[in-house]
Amino acid sequence: MRFQTKNVHFQHKMDSTEVSKTKPIFQTSAFSFENFDDMEGFFEGKKNYLYSRMGNPNTDDLGKGVADLEGAEAGVATSSGLSAILAGILSVAKAGDHVVATQDLYGGTYQLLARELPDLGISVSFVNFESREEIEEAITENTVLLYSESVTNPLLRVEDLTGMVKIAASQNLKTMVDNTFATPYLIRPHEASVDIVVHSATKYIGGHSDVTAGVVTGNFDLMTKAQGKVSNLGSNLGPMDGWLACRGLKTLSLRMQKQCDNAQELAKALKENDMIKSVHYPTAVSQHGNGAIVTVDFTDELSVHEFSKRLEWIKIVPTLAGLETSITYPAGTSHRSMPKEMREKLGVTDSMIRISVGIEDAEDIIAVFKKALS
Ligand SMILES: *Cc1c(COP(=O)(O)O)cnc(C)c1O
Repeated sequence: MRFQTKNVHFQHKMDSTEVSKTKPIFQTSAFSFENFDDMEGFFEGKKNYLYSRMGNPNTDDLGKGVADLEGAEAGVATSSGLSAILAGILSVAKAGDHVVATQDLYGGTYQLLARELPDLGISVSFVNFESREEIEEAITENTVLLYSESVTNPLLRVEDLTGMVKIAASQNLKTMVDNTFATPYLIRPHEASVDIVVHSATKYIGGHSDVTAGVVTGNFDLMTKAQGKVSNLGSNLGPMDGWLACRGLKTLSLRMQKQCDNAQELAKALKENDMIKSVHYPTAVSQHGNGAIVTVDFTDELSVHEFSKRLEWIKIVPTLAGLETSITYPAGTSHRSMPKEMREKLGVTDSMIRISVGIEDAEDIIAVFKKALS
């Protein structure tokens, strides 16, 4: 099957004793059994489900659906993108281990890696992943993992996954990549031999801004470990949220295609506008397009605050990937806790906004921005 067919039919390959056209919601905390022998069947691997914290058909569907599109053996759904990242990291790292991560990380991921992992005994170094030397210099004898994002936030740097895997392979390290911004429709990091891929399914996987969820994918061995972490730490996803994210996932390729096409047109229109100093929009990301996020830096003549009052139906939202076009202010939200010098070193300026392009008609999106800029 090609991507779009596989995308819309991912649930049809699942076991189907059900007759409902859509997958029913197993809104239950546990599963019941005929007798104790029947219950023993779970521990013998004859039954899939016992207790929803340890697995539920709706959350498993999400893990399997994303794994399938990523080209991974297995996937585990979790309560959020951050808990997926934690489960992925803990499936390869323990106290005493060291992680080398890119410095231009999503803000929440930075907090998890910089503040929480050290308390668990896992140390992290943040370096510029554009420099092979910096990565290699940061690796110590305790290093177990290289961590990056396929497309970074908010400057949309596209990671050299092959280069990253090469360094890891030469030092016997695992690799992990956050593929939230790209989605498997654009980039499939496992094809470059990345070991673990994570998603904030809150974003494009769910796609409708109505659920907080995460997914981690990889080989059977790593995902068995990740599932163990999720069960033991209690960071499982609820059945209803799993079902909602699956409903969103079915239209991933349609949404992404439209959003990428719109973003390409918007980026072009903004590049031609005198009020804009620079437009960050990557090229050659994939055969389908270059993503649906456009980041712009305003000239000194324009106040971002003034601009934000003139956006008509475009909402100001500190997230991304919804069906509706929205904007956010990285310096005031995702990168707020970062010292100004560090922000500037990364290139995140105070005159920068990040646009998450939706599925509206491109002409209407462009018209609102043009009017607000004028
Ligand atoms: C939102 C986001 C996360 C965190 O996901 P949550 O679902 O909010 O926990 C991680 N990485 C990236 C790139 C994100 O955009």
